[in-house]
Amino acid sequence: MNIVLIGSQGCGKGTQAEMLARETGMIHISTGDLLRHARGSLKKEIHSYIDKGNLVPDELIIKLIKIKLKETKSKKGVILDGFPRDILQAEQLNKITKIDAIIEIYISDKEAIRRIMNRWNCPKCGLTYNLISNPPKSKGICNKCQTKLVQREDDKEDAIKKRLFIYHKETEPILKMFKLYRVNGELDINKVHKEITGIVKGMSRVILIL
Ligand code: AMP
Repeated sequence: MNIVLIGSQGCGKGTQAEMLARETGMIHISTGDLLRHARGSLKKEIHSYIDKGNLVPDELIIKLIKIKLKETKSKKGVILDGFPRDILQAEQLNKITKIDAIIEIYISDKEAIRRIMNRWNCPKCGLTYNLISNPPKSKGICNKCQTKLVQREDDKEDAIKKRLFIYHKETEPILKMFKLYRVNGELDINKVHKEITGIVKGMSRVILIL
């Protein structure tokens, strides 16, 4: 079974995808992480898009996801996080693999901005903090390696507003293209997880019966 977790920036889809992968054995594929970890000649080009809050070109991301899906071996299926992000990507995805459902984690734009503005990262070890729900022990310093925390370029206010605009304009229209489930992402993290697992377990029962 393959599913897509979707939602605006800060809805927690990365965290929920990880929790779901741990519980079900499905494989979590995050295109944001794939792009951020790109090395070599593509790195500079990729950052010229993501740092400003723009989407990278469809051609590039589709190529990347095709390679990733081909090399991912999972009996339980995959959880896509960050892909597809527009109609063209969704159409391509339907050609590459079967998607059983999309789960949308919805939050308001106000909540999205509040959450992302409070997100800080350690540039050395990669730990992520939230100044409200998970602050570092000493202000602005990583608990693990004592490095000064930074904000991702695309988590700064102008970039977030642009990313939300693009989400509503480009990404939301694809919700109509798949079987859709919706979960309130403003609930407690464990409640959101419980709802998502309930949906996925319900779906796998249906698929087994069919
Ligand atoms: P995310 O971590 O999912 O918010 O992704 C971070 C950034 O990576 C986005 O703002 C885009 O610039 C880029 N990105 C991730 N996934 C895609 C995609 N499917 N299509 C285009 N750009 C993407």
